[in-house]
Amino acid sequence: ADDVALDPWGSSTVSDYRKLFEEFGIEEFDEVLDEVPNPHYLMRRGVIFGHRDYRPVLDAMRNGDDFAVLSGFMPTGDPHIGHKLVFDEIIWHQEQGGDAYGLIADMEAHSARGIPWDEINEHSRDYLLSLIALGFDPEEGELYRQSDNDRLQRLAFELGGKANFSEFQSIYGFDGETNVSHMQSVVTQMADILYPQLDDPKPTVIPVGPDQDPHVRFARDLAIRMRFFKVTEAFASFELDDAERPLVAAAHDAREAYAEDADMPRCGEAAEWLADADLDAAGVLVSESVRESAVEKLENAGMEPLRPRIRFFARQATDEAFEALIEDIEGEKRRYDQHIDAFDMDVDEAEDLAREVEAHHGGYGFIAPSSIYHRFMTGLTGGKMSSSIPASHISLLDAPEEGYDKVKSATTGGRDTADEQRELGGEADKCPVYELYAYLLTGDDDELAKEVYDECVGGERLCGGCKEQAATMMREFLEDHHEKREEAAEVLDSLDIDLET
Ligand code: SF4
Repeated sequence: ADDVALDPWGSSTVSDYRKLFEEFGIEEFDEVLDEVPNPHYLMRRGVIFGHRDYRPVLDAMRNGDDFAVLSGFMPTGDPHIGHKLVFDEIIWHQEQGGDAYGLIADMEAHSARGIPWDEINEHSRDYLLSLIALGFDPEEGELYRQSDNDRLQRLAFELGGKANFSEFQSIYGFDGETNVSHMQSVVTQMADILYPQLDDPKPTVIPVGPDQDPHVRFARDLAIRMRFFKVTEAFASFELDDAERPLVAAAHDAREAYAEDADMPRCGEAAEWLADADLDAAGVLVSESVRESAVEKLENAGMEPLRPRIRFFARQATDEAFEALIEDIEGEKRRYDQHIDAFDMDVDEAEDLAREVEAHHGGYGFIAPSSIYHRFMTGLTGGKMSSSIPASHISLLDAPEEGYDKVKSATTGGRDTADEQRELGGEADKCPVYELYAYLLTGDDDELAKEVYDECVGGERLCGGCKEQAATMMREFLEDHHEKREEAAEVLDSLDIDLET
């Protein structure tokens, strides 16, 4: 599929990034760029082009509060310069004070791609070496492989209890032929995304390519489904009419049980009863359907008092649902504004309370995870960069000379003749060599990146010299990276990660 096919296991390319904003509700990164303290060059240059709910992470970053970053790597081949983008994103967030996690999605590689375990072990080691060599601090952060992490597996098991097969069908297109381990690897991946919050809920960002967005959306849904107590406590703070008294009673039960410092089953029961008994509570548990059910309810005059509540649930659910609701409510916004303001305060209180309850009872207070999305690099041979086409990418394991040669033979955005190039300028925006400069070679040096671009489109730069310069820089980068990988080997071996079995 050459337009937007968001298939995490496909070989998708994204030809039209605008569609991601329009159809999938990914927001433009530009809109939050000003709020990023000390933005990474990949952000400044638009390589990181989109996000989902990144603001809570930025707020935490600015206020010195806890936040986390996590991304995973499927060890199906050598790590290459496309993966380096994600390494850099994790490392940058760690440098900004985040708890950083790098994981090896070995179960996914085995179940979805059929990679044998001995190959997985070898590739896993290579990924981790490059991540450490590029600056990940494993003393401060955590590296793990899925198959070897018991807490992760327990969480995955619980999340599996909140997901069902029809969702797998609609989100991932699974069918009767899909192997069960593949499904297990999906809940494992959901657990990965929520893993940084196991001990303490905190804003968490997942840097990924846009093809991974279905995982992020699903994890956001599951995060909310694991939050029974929030729902319960929030109910307790609403003003409800007579028909809704049973809900209040249930909420009170839960609250009392907490106050009495006991009785988890009563809390759980109350919350579950609520979920069963009330359509809105069901709405939060099935957030994809919030939008439709909310519209339906808005048409039902008898349900009018429920509106602010729907809005609350939508806020807890997906951004898309929230936006749709805002629009819906827009007509009568003024009438409800006051109500909603008061309501929002209640929600804050309820959230604090709920978090206490959850912490007390060992429940989960997951905050819906955020994500940022980076562009895919163009292959050096044109088309997409692919792990299976060696000439299309530069592996982080390539010999420096090999990297040099690959850059020298790359396609460019140059014109047919030097004269034409001087006259018309090159097409840097279509040039994989320019991408190498912008994504990797110029590092933090914006001046140099701009100089290459301006000289190219201005016709002062010709491709031969330009490639020679890039190839030389690539050779230097690889030389340096290989040295650092050797140093990283010692660090990796001192960590408690089993890469043999
Ligand atoms: Fe690409 Fe450099 Fe040629 Fe411009 S001059 S098209 S950036 S190789």
